[in-house]
Amino acid sequence: MLPYHSLSDAQAALGRNLTLPETLWFNYSAQKSDYFLYCHNILFLFLIFSLVPLPLVFLELKRFSFLDSYKIQPKVRLSSDDIFRCYKDVMHTFFFIVGPLQLVSYPSVKMIGIRTGLPLPSGWEILSQLLVYFLVEDYLNYWIHRFLHNKWGYDKIHRVHHEYAAPIGFAAPYAHWAEILILGIPSFLGPAMVPGHMITFWLWIALRQIEAIDTHSGYDFPWSLTKYIPFYGGAEHHDYHHYVGGQSQSNFASVFTYCDYIYGTDKGYRYQKKILSKLKETNGVEQIGGSYKQD
Ligand SMILES: [Zn+2]
Ligand SMILES: [Zn+2]
Repeated sequence: MLPYHSLSDAQAALGRNLTLPETLWFNYSAQKSDYFLYCHNILFLFLIFSLVPLPLVFLELKRFSFLDSYKIQPKVRLSSDDIFRCYKDVMHTFFFIVGPLQLVSYPSVKMIGIRTGLPLPSGWEILSQLLVYFLVEDYLNYWIHRFLHNKWGYDKIHRVHHEYAAPIGFAAPYAHWAEILILGIPSFLGPAMVPGHMITFWLWIALRQIEAIDTHSGYDFPWSLTKYIPFYGGAEHHDYHHYVGGQSQSNFASVFTYCDYIYGTDKGYRYQKKILSKLKETNGVEQIGGSYKQD
């Protein structure tokens, strides 16, 4: 809740006129509690989990032949029942774990100092904080994910996320409830280290989930704008991790490729890619699907 009674109060406190985004924010948030604003994440996550994968579901069910060369594992086909079961399970975890976790985690958000007031952060502040959040999450997630591939972690927890050897968008948040809780830590650590505005926090939660859906999309489109993000892993990088499955000791990182490179856990993946591109060169065979496997 903003500590001003009116727009003119806010302008007097800031010593200047409000910008248009600040006026919109004032009108929207002035009478709402910080807790209620924080809980918007529940709605955002519900909409992202439900709507963002839909174009991918359409592609999966239609399977247009001209897009098959971009499908990473083109031989795997999921039915509408398979896809709906995945969504149903994700919603089950959403209503029993993700939503309640948001409801009870507010004190920690308050404690680290996520603010809701004015002035709003600049575009550069938002971008630089998001970059820190992505880097911190990627690094910690790498090690937790790698740890979850030990026998106990895999059998008891991480096996669930690997049920989809050829991932689809809906399978991004498909995981054991304990994994969802554990992986909440890397997501929260960045904002705890560099606390920002609630809008930045919303953006962070939303972008991280959209990125996860992208890396589980099952498609590697050469025109994707994410190709311009340095060291971005993308769908093919993570798809290989799912393709190899429980035995996988490769491609643990959630967002970028540099951790796997530095710690040598992308050797198998890079070797496969190299061999197949050589094969393609010498045989003149057109590679269908992902460049790490031959279909
Ligand atoms: Zn894994
Ligand atoms: Zn995955």
